[in-house]
Amino acid sequence: MNPAVPITTVDGRPAVEIVNHEGEVWTYALAAERGPAGWTCYQVARTDDPEGAHRHTVRTNGQSWECSCPAWRYRRRWNRTSCKHVDSVRALGPWLKALEG
Ligand SMILES: [Zn+2]
Repeated sequence: MNPAVPITTVDGRPAVEIVNHEGEVWTYALAAERGPAGWTCYQVARTDDPEGAHRHTVRTNGQSWECSCPAWRYRRRWNRTSCKHVDSVRALGPWLKALEG
């Protein structure tokens, strides 16, 4: 079961809201790109942070998933199977399929 993910728009583009470990809500604009190996979804938060720390890249080939964030990299050590960014993209799947008709 996918978690409920708030969906919104930023400048007319789809975006998701993700709560960080400090309880702050970050809004990430989404962009998706289909390549030979599957889908890549870019999540970029609107922020003035010049270091661009609030961006993630989620990839899937339809079978497995991966994310560029530290939580994904260390998920086994932290005894988790996923991260918030992968969860958010997975939750959007049924919505995107519905749009395709
Ligand atoms: Zn992640």
